[in-house]
Amino acid sequence: MSRVLIIGCGGVASVAIQKCCQVSEVFTEICIASRTKEKCDALAAKLAPGTATVITTAKVDADKVEEVISLIRSYQPDLVMNIALPYQDLTIMDACLACGVNYMDTANYEPEDTEDPKWRAVYEKRCREAGFSAYFDYSWQWAYQEKFKAAGLTALLGSGFDPGVTQAYCAYAKKHEFDEIDTIDILDCNGGDHGYAFATNFNPEINLREVSAPGSYWEDGRWVEIPAMSIKREYDFDRVGTKDMYLLHHEEIESLAKNLPEVKRIRFFMTFGQSYLDHMRCLEDVGMLSTTPEMYEGREIVPIQFLKALLPDPASLGPRTKGKTNIGCIFTGRKDGREKTWYIYNVCDHEECYKEVGSQAISYTTGVPAMCGALMLLTGKWNKPGVYTVEEFDPDPFLEALDRYGLPRSVEENPVLVE
Ligand code: NDP
Repeated sequence: MSRVLIIGCGGVASVAIQKCCQVSEVFTEICIASRTKEKCDALAAKLAPGTATVITTAKVDADKVEEVISLIRSYQPDLVMNIALPYQDLTIMDACLACGVNYMDTANYEPEDTEDPKWRAVYEKRCREAGFSAYFDYSWQWAYQEKFKAAGLTALLGSGFDPGVTQAYCAYAKKHEFDEIDTIDILDCNGGDHGYAFATNFNPEINLREVSAPGSYWEDGRWVEIPAMSIKREYDFDRVGTKDMYLLHHEEIESLAKNLPEVKRIRFFMTFGQSYLDHMRCLEDVGMLSTTPEMYEGREIVPIQFLKALLPDPASLGPRTKGKTNIGCIFTGRKDGREKTWYIYNVCDHEECYKEVGSQAISYTTGVPAMCGALMLLTGKWNKPGVYTVEEFDPDPFLEALDRYGLPRSVEENPVLVE
């Protein structure tokens, strides 16, 4: 019996909310809140007839700590699920601390305005010291460790697929399959086709920032940074086929490097088609990916936000997308004195997702782990005071929940390795 406040009602949140409603014995009451209350109301009205979960809605601007605090005080939740944007992570964590409530999210903090001089000073110091230049990193949220510990509260960071399930796969490999892990390659393949010349599968602003940034990987205790899209490999994915994939920086590499210090190399690859890359390069060259406000006909506009308004809403891709995703991790290392290689992954079908929850597999593969992470916190399986990423908890109940609620694992011994 629990009461959960869910902030955000976009592509990922809609899936997570529907999944919570399928587990109404745990999620007995939920409140859906975002700045556009009508969107929350519409989803609540759609779901209410088919679930025992009692759904209410609220309007909140989660950039404002006071608004989140007053909503938490009036609703009195056991957990706040932040499925808004990474920009809101810190304000929502502050509100959870002020009200004594557990917290979780699906992506680590990054600022909306990357030109903010106060943020920029910290960022530039981190680039120099840590050696990678992504706008997002864990330092902002790890800084809450002592505060959450002292308050006896749990903050679960990044409970989506990647980050999220990929780290549970790493914790599972470490617990059951390996005595020592040498290398981890995280492979994120989207074999889906939505029929548009160009669209992003989740929030365009977050997505385009991520893929246009330099890539980096962890090797022998340090970051190696490379120009965007400059390491390309081909891989034959189960149930998808052969795809080009590119090395990207990705947030879970940072926490895995810290929590699995024996691992010598951690890389992340994502598949992209040539048309997507051509569009992205062109948009970048003309300045459309910029987050810096520009004056246009007497009005300030942020190019990437304007671009977002032109692109198809990721939530609208569901009915058009065909094909499958395949996301997982390949490990090399040793077990019982023998060299070993092992691959664990999930294959998810866009059309099946649409049939079940009315959205494509990218939102589905993030929304289901968000619900399962919340389930771990609400059922007491993952509670320890402090701020933690997924690999710091027991992977077994989480992977069992994923198997059960729509993202079953597949395993391959002796997989083809990535060069
Ligand atoms: P969307 O843009 O579809 O949805 C964002 C939602 O957040 C909207 O409902 C929006 O509603 C709400 N929101 C935005 N700003 C605020 C605010 N200030 N206060 C309250 N609500 C706000 O994004 P997605 O659903 O695609 O992504 C959600 C999250 O999931 C992001 O953090 C993304 O990075 C993460 N993600 C994680 C993945 C993983 O595997 N871990 C993969 C994909 C995404 P409104 O504008 O009405 O307020």
